[in-house]
Amino acid sequence: MNAHPTREEDFDLYALGALEGDEKLAIESHVTSCATCTEKLAAARGRIALLALAAPPVAPSAAVKQRLMQQVRADAERSPAAASAPPRAPQETERAGGFFGRWWAAVLVPAGAVLALATILLWTENRQLDRQLAALRAAAEQQQQQLQEVREVADMIESHDTVTVSLAQQPGMPAGAAHVMYNAKMGMLMFDGEIAPAPAAKSYQLWLVPADGKPISAGVFNPVSGRTDHWMMKLPQGIAAKEFAVSLEPTGGMPQPTGPMVLVGHA
Ligand SMILES: [Zn+2]
Repeated sequence: MNAHPTREEDFDLYALGALEGDEKLAIESHVTSCATCTEKLAAARGRIALLALAAPPVAPSAAVKQRLMQQVRADAERSPAAASAPPRAPQETERAGGFFGRWWAAVLVPAGAVLALATILLWTENRQLDRQLAALRAAAEQQQQQLQEVREVADMIESHDTVTVSLAQQPGMPAGAAHVMYNAKMGMLMFDGEIAPAPAAKSYQLWLVPADGKPISAGVFNPVSGRTDHWMMKLPQGIAAKEFAVSLEPTGGMPQPTGPMVLVGHA
C-alpha cells in the first residue's frame, strides 16, 4: 500500500471534494487498505457535515431588505419610461444598491446553494455509513449471541446435572410426544417435541412444575403439522423440577396453566 497522507488537512479537503488528480487518487487507493486513514476520513466527513450544519442560516437584516426593495421599486418605476426618457445619471445610493444587488445574487446565493447541497450530500452519505455500520454491528452481535447459545447448549448437554424427561400424551388429547432437557443449576431448559397443531384460537404452553411453588412458563408455541418444535429457554437458576407439562391455553399463553394437560412427564 502507498504511504499515509502526510498532511492531515488532506482528509478534510478530500471530504470536501476539493482534492483532484494524483492527490485524490493517492488518498482513495490508500484508504482501501489502511484502517487508520479510513477512520480519519470518516472523521473528516463527519466534521465537514457538522460544520455545514452548524453554519447559521443567513437572513438579510431589515435595513438590507429595505434597500433591496427600494432598488427593485426604483428599477420598476424607471423601466417603462426608459426607452423614451433621456438617460438619467444614477444617484450614489442607487449605484450602491445596484452593486449590492449584484453581489447578493452573484456570490451569496450560489454560495448558499452550494453549502446547502454539500450539507445534504454529506449528511446523506454519513447517514448511509452510520446505517451500514449499525447493520454490521447488529449482525456481529447476533452471531456472538448465537455462538454463546451454542456454547451454553453444549455445556448443558455435557453436564452431569442435566436431566432428560420424556413427556407422554395424555388420554383423549392431541397426539404428540416430547422431551425436555433441564439443568437447574444453569437455569437452562431445552424442549424437543412434535405434536398435532393446536385448535383455533389456542396455543400450547410448556410448564416447569417446581417441587415447591407455582408452575413457571417455559414457552408458548403453535406447532406446524409434521414439524418438530425445538427451543432453548433460560429460567431462574436453582429451581428443582418435579414435572414438565404442556397444556392447551388461549392463543399467546397464560401466566398460569388454565387448560387441559396434553403432555406430562415426571422429572
Ligand atoms: Zn494510512
